[in-house]
Amino acid sequence: MIIAVDGPTASGKGTIAKRLAVHFGVPHLDTGLLYRAVGRQVAINEGDPDNESDALAACAFSDDLLDDDILRSEEVGGLASRVSVHPAVREALFRRQRAFAEQPGGAVLDGRDIGTVIAPDADVKLFITASVHERARRRWLEMTASGFGREIEIPLDEIEKDIVARDARDIQRADAPLRAAPDALVIDTTAFDREQAFETVLEAVKEALQAG
Ligand code: C5P
Repeated sequence: MIIAVDGPTASGKGTIAKRLAVHFGVPHLDTGLLYRAVGRQVAINEGDPDNESDALAACAFSDDLLDDDILRSEEVGGLASRVSVHPAVREALFRRQRAFAEQPGGAVLDGRDIGTVIAPDADVKLFITASVHERARRRWLEMTASGFGREIEIPLDEIEKDIVARDARDIQRADAPLRAAPDALVIDTTAFDREQAFETVLEAVKEALQAG
């Protein structure tokens, strides 16, 4: 059983995907982390994230990097969205994501193109979204709690601007742009708290699996 969870940045898709994986007892892959690792590796290499060969070279990051908390910063998120534009980078990360999706017993993957490119054969496809303002608010709270927001004191309106820029890059790129698969269940969580969002999604997934 493959569950594909796509959506824009800070939509809550990561938390939802993680909880779905626990609920169904299958492993979860946050594919954004792979792009974040590439973005971070470009910076370590002192390369240019907008240059396709520099970005491709950074795909050879060490797996230890995936555990580095710095990957969760806004700065690395911005780098990830720049390196993810390059088709060579997407291709380099494809096999790893596809292998994860195909493992026996199934998996939950979250990202931008899971339902459209990585696992168009997914049993359930979700597209989780929320208003830009609400996503900025959630990201700000998350950063403050993690210490990133407090340390560098990023104001809410700057986070909102950053989210708008990342949405634009993700939606407008030619290769695997952010969009809901035609058969995805689109769920807007703007008015929900975390618990309500998860309950709504879980009900939708159960119904979809039953309808099968
Ligand atoms: O989800 P997260 O914010 O960690 O993703 C960081 C960036 O990586 C996104 O803005 C997007 O540009 C890119 N990404 C992608 N395809 C995915 C997952 C993430 O292009 N499947």
